[in-house]
Amino acid sequence: MIRVSAGTAHVLGLREIKADADPTTAYLLNGEKCSNNCGFCPQARDSKDDGSHLSRIVWPEYDEDDVVNRLKSAKASGAMKRACIQFTLCNGSFDRAKSLAARIKNEVGMPLSVSLNVPSVDNARELIEAGASRVSIALDAANADLHTQIKGSSFDEKLKLIRQCITLFPGQISTHIIIGLGETEEQALKLISEMYNLDVSVGLFAFTPVRGTKLEKQSPPDIGCYRRVQIANYLLKHSIIAVDNLNFEDGRLTGINLPKSEIASALSSGKAFETAGCDGCNRPYYNERPGGTIYNYPRALNSDELARAIAESGLDI
Ligand code: SF4
Repeated sequence: MIRVSAGTAHVLGLREIKADADPTTAYLLNGEKCSNNCGFCPQARDSKDDGSHLSRIVWPEYDEDDVVNRLKSAKASGAMKRACIQFTLCNGSFDRAKSLAARIKNEVGMPLSVSLNVPSVDNARELIEAGASRVSIALDAANADLHTQIKGSSFDEKLKLIRQCITLFPGQISTHIIIGLGETEEQALKLISEMYNLDVSVGLFAFTPVRGTKLEKQSPPDIGCYRRVQIANYLLKHSIIAVDNLNFEDGRLTGINLPKSEIASALSSGKAFETAGCDGCNRPYYNERPGGTIYNYPRALNSDELARAIAESGLDI
């Protein structure tokens, strides 16, 4: 059996749901409650969630053979461009990650991201050799104190592992950064810039309070803050600016040293406000309630949405 996000189950024809946007990556989840204890995660050891959620999404369980067969069809039709498996840390999760990676590589043949708290370079190598095209080593919290406080582990050790892995496996390492955990925009963007300089891809998330987690009462990020981070993230990712082009006051992004016409041209596609991460990853409703604030657009923006997103940033651009 394998757990599949509700949206993925819909695209694979396993479940009917009403949705404005379908996932273009097949999101899979393996494992029971995690032995880690991240304060934002419903799968965490001490979370009071019944284990059915990851972020605000539910993940029903289906027969693995059936899911693999349906993934083949979704790849053939172009409905799914990538698979992404999130593993909680529990007994046997590493061996299961390798066997599932091999199965998806050999039987489905689509790009596969594996998100697992790998403790060493050797573990990352084994996952890549088994079939993962990318291994995601999540930093999540953008500074060392928050990392210790919220994840209970060492930020510096994680950063060191990412640096070692990207040297050995160029183009195959991703990370996740969550905005709204208490970091400043400056801390987040300096870290994001460092990741791009290393050629690590960055999945950007808006903190989402989930009932039963330690951080259930914390607010999601202010939309202005998130839009500023998205804009700078996009410009950094595409090497349109370097981090030195960003001006900060008290940790907040206040300006970008680039002619306005160049910024306008770079933002005109709206892609800065679409979900950022591995190619093909759009994560519909992962951080958003239907009808609520859209942090990450899972699809192209229309012109009104684009104008609003730029205005929400509060930047004079
Ligand atoms: S960015 Fe998307 S596809 Fe990549 S590891 Fe994160 S959730 Fe998976």
